[in-house]
Amino acid sequence: MKRITLKRGRERSVLKGHPWVFSGAVESGEAAAGELVEVCDASGAKLGQGWFSPASQIRVRLVPDAPVADLVANAIARRGDYFVNCYTNAVRLVNAESDLMPGVVADYYAGHVVCQFTSAGADVRKGEIADALMKFAPGCIGVSERRDADPRAKEGLPTSPAFASLAGEEPPEFVEIAEGELKFLVDVRKGHKTGFYLDQRDARRTVGPLANGADVLNCFCYTGGFGLFARACGAASVTQVDVSADALDIARKNEALQHYCGTKMEYVEADVFQFLRKCRDEGRTFDMVVLDPPKFAATKGQLMKAARGYKDINLLAMKLLKPYGTLATFSCSGAMDAAFFDTILAEAAQDARRAFQVVARTHAPSDHPVALSFPEGSYLKGVVMRAL
Ligand code: SAH
Repeated sequence: MKRITLKRGRERSVLKGHPWVFSGAVESGEAAAGELVEVCDASGAKLGQGWFSPASQIRVRLVPDAPVADLVANAIARRGDYFVNCYTNAVRLVNAESDLMPGVVADYYAGHVVCQFTSAGADVRKGEIADALMKFAPGCIGVSERRDADPRAKEGLPTSPAFASLAGEEPPEFVEIAEGELKFLVDVRKGHKTGFYLDQRDARRTVGPLANGADVLNCFCYTGGFGLFARACGAASVTQVDVSADALDIARKNEALQHYCGTKMEYVEADVFQFLRKCRDEGRTFDMVVLDPPKFAATKGQLMKAARGYKDINLLAMKLLKPYGTLATFSCSGAMDAAFFDTILAEAAQDARRAFQVVARTHAPSDHPVALSFPEGSYLKGVVMRAL
């Protein structure tokens, strides 16, 4: 095994269990893309082993001394509870670094597993990983991959074709999944990420019941998740807003899959920043507003600009709330921590001249675990608050 030697003192983060070795920490050593290498401190003592990425700032990603198939089997075994109580048949089976498989994401949609391989080491092992998923994922029908994830370019990995089948049967155009009593169509070929926002499952379940009798505005609705939960929980009306016509098409199809109910549904293809202003100008108000925007800050450098964006939409949403109205607001920017997000919300409330009480905080569910030694894995935060 080739050896990568770190600069003096740079072994500290590795000893703490952090899975990344940055290029600036490396004193010497080279290897091929994805090759398994030994990582040593400046004195030559072995610290561990990892997957080499010649094109990335993250030069080595540490992995356990175990066959890839075992890592896959163990990650699935840790999610045993998901396959017992069956609230859902859509589960993240492998959550990258936090499941000891750097750059490997595997999402299970009713038997169809869709992966993303965003490190060179993950990419060269995808055949092995797909075989292990076929073997260990309960009722696995097929395994495919999405190649259009942003981080692949940084690793020097091809990003097209966007979708490829790796093992077993190809998935249908839409895979139908269930979350509780609700059904959703997942576009695994062209949808965002691997097709569905599994990370908001717990939030949808928390927010839905607060919408009983409410007029709901669901901003950045994608395929309709929060809005359809609100509808199922007895919302009076739901306005679903997204800039993507394709997402709204699926949202409408998803509505048609649910039980009949009297909720008035409206679908609006619009930019949320503009739509909120239009509502303000027209004097429209709501009992609940959901704000689940895309990542505004991809890096720390974009943080201040992102903060202005978050403040803008939250301030506008707060002003649209009826008395005792509920705001469910989210940030999936990893560069913004929960305390900073709270500060932005407090400033927005001050400018909106409204007081709020926090009734719930949400996080990614337990199939999206975060390794204690890898805080970077934590990105999603949600605050549910009611106007006083
Ligand atoms: N709440 C959804 C996930 C939202 S993802 C769920 O639970 O499934 C973010 C969504 O915001 C995407 O669908 C994207 O199309 C949309 N989007 C991004 N920028 C937007 C903008 N400026 N206005 C409206 N929608 C936007």
